[in-house]
Amino acid sequence: MRIPFIAGNWKMNTTATQAEELVQNMLDRLDKIEDVEKVLCPPFVSLVTVKELLKGSSIKLGAQNMHFEIKGAYTGEISPLMLSELCEFVILGHSERRGYFGETDEIVNKKIKAALQNKLKPILCVGERLEENEAGRTKTVIGRQLSQGLKNIEPTHNLVVAYEPIWAIGSGKAASGEQAAVTIRFIRDTLVKLWNKEIAQDLRILYGGSVTSHNITEFISQPEIDGALVGGSSLKAGDFLDIANQAAAIKHRHLSSPLKGEE
Ligand code: PEP
Repeated sequence: MRIPFIAGNWKMNTTATQAEELVQNMLDRLDKIEDVEKVLCPPFVSLVTVKELLKGSSIKLGAQNMHFEIKGAYTGEISPLMLSELCEFVILGHSERRGYFGETDEIVNKKIKAALQNKLKPILCVGERLEENEAGRTKTVIGRQLSQGLKNIEPTHNLVVAYEPIWAIGSGKAASGEQAAVTIRFIRDTLVKLWNKEIAQDLRILYGGSVTSHNITEFISQPEIDGALVGGSSLKAGDFLDIANQAAAIKHRHLSSPLKGEE
């Protein structure tokens, strides 16, 4: 059984002081939510502060990006080695990195390799643009992002994949649970082909894109969807707690009555 996974991507929001406040506002209640892996991904400058606050709790820490080199003359960059002392996860291939910073599948591939080599667990984001979706190219785009992004990488359990249709990110227009489940099933099938069935069935595949406390049940109640990567709604303690609580409750209900098709 895959443990549900709820991660908050704070993007370029919160000063270190605000980050501390946000964590304080959810720490105790988030800590108590069981059987859901809970991950916070604050900006780099708040990683140390948040790491200290999360010490001894069940909440894990992630970064939002990194360079693929371990060290060197890359002014302004943060390396996987630096992150390995601070956090367990790192978001890679986010559409904002691909779109605004020119990250290609080749760069994402280098970053995934470097993360794994430095004991970081990548949260690999894939997703199609609106035009690609409308042209029926979703599977082609995502198939390419997966095969190129994971090229020459040995199968590993230390990966989480997030399906984030670009048209749904920050737009308030989430995909439907069914739409997301169809694509996530395709992602799992692709992982079976690229790697193997055993690993593909164990990996968590999340949905991301305008997830809120009002629509999380639609996603999490789909057997194929193992959790969510949450942007905007992770910046409000109450909303993020609500999302994590609902994820825990629904997956528990499924645990006590086998999921359709998984009896
Ligand atoms: C994201 O950026 O990963 C994301 C899903 O953002 P939002 O929830 O705000 O759409």
